[in-house]
Amino acid sequence: MNEDGFASGCDVAVVGGGIVGSAIAYGLASRGLKVTVLDEGDRALRAARTNFGLVWVQSKGDGMPAYMRWTRRSADLWPAFAAELESLTGVGTEYRKDGGLVYCLGEADLAAQGRKIAGLAAQADVFDSEMVDRAALERLQPDARFGPDVAGASYCPHDGHCNPLYLLRALHAGLALRGARYRPAAPVSSIERREGRFVLATAQGPLEAGRIVLAAGHGIPRLAEMVGLPAPIKACLLYTSRPSAARSSSPSACSPSCGFPAAASARRATARWSSARRRKRPASTTAPAWPWAGAWPHGPSASCRPSRPPS
Ligand SMILES: Cc1cc2nc3c(=O)[nH]c(=O)nc-3n(C[C@H](O)[C@H](O)[C@H](O)COP(=O)(O)OP(=O)(O)OC[C@H]3O[C@@H](n4cnc5c(N)ncnc54)[C@H](O)[C@@H]3O)c2cc1C
Repeated sequence: MNEDGFASGCDVAVVGGGIVGSAIAYGLASRGLKVTVLDEGDRALRAARTNFGLVWVQSKGDGMPAYMRWTRRSADLWPAFAAELESLTGVGTEYRKDGGLVYCLGEADLAAQGRKIAGLAAQADVFDSEMVDRAALERLQPDARFGPDVAGASYCPHDGHCNPLYLLRALHAGLALRGARYRPAAPVSSIERREGRFVLATAQGPLEAGRIVLAAGHGIPRLAEMVGLPAPIKACLLYTSRPSAARSSSPSACSPSCGFPAAASARRATARWSSARRRKRPASTTAPAWPWAGAWPHGPSASCRPSRPPS
């Protein structure tokens, strides 16, 4: 029991071993704290294994200038962080900073996006985003086939992307090398406060910790309740499909309608977004109906758009 760190306890228990929990645990362990990461098993819902790997800064933090500056600072720190992880673990994250695009459909969309970018710049001019018209967009992505409605895009040079699976693998390897313990198949079922410390009940027995970090993704609301914190999460349904092929050096891209960056370099999965709340255009599952569906050179599915969930 002592060997796995359960009975002996730890300084910090991180609940959730996805990107967020692993990154926090890596940082704490690197600063010399005794850290245990508690995670669920392979069949759990895990965003870190399905996300697009976008290291995205443009349009984040409207109304929260501090968050905007934090986002930019994070992006600036990424190259050194990726290099550190690779040199420590031998696992590369495939991070690149090719810039990011938000496509605009029609002049009205283009003008609206321009106003949004200007509004963000007025709060904290840290994104260096600019509007590009159709001609400039075609120069940026010479191999792309744009639909007739694509009027232009906003472009941010600080946007980038990595391979999220390699990132997670590198973080888990880094955790071990920094002395943190990773416990899979150890879901936390309850958290109690005892004599100034926390006692977490897990499927592998209790763990005592001085502090806890809740990084359990969708599991946070239930866990937060146990320590008296409100942490609502809004659910939405999303399903993905893989483009047939794509270039590796293109800027990242997303469509304005989905409001969510997708199709990192189009090398990886693309998204078909389904959320009744966010759906602003008529639902469709057929790519040709969407003006930006041909934005990538090798297939219509390499874009992000609202659509119906699979029936
Ligand atoms: C399709 C999709 C694409 C996305 N693309 C991007 C993107 O490109 N860029 C970006 O920045 N963000 C993106 N996101 C947002 C994404 O949620 C985050 O980037 C990131 O993956 C979230 O990591 P996480 O560690 O918080 O969550 P998760 O990876 O879900 O990790 C939570 C972990 O907690 C564990 N857990 C849950 N409950 C318990 C419990 N009781 N006890 C122990 N462990 C528990 C789970 O098993 C899981 O391993 C995307 C999200 C989705 C769904």
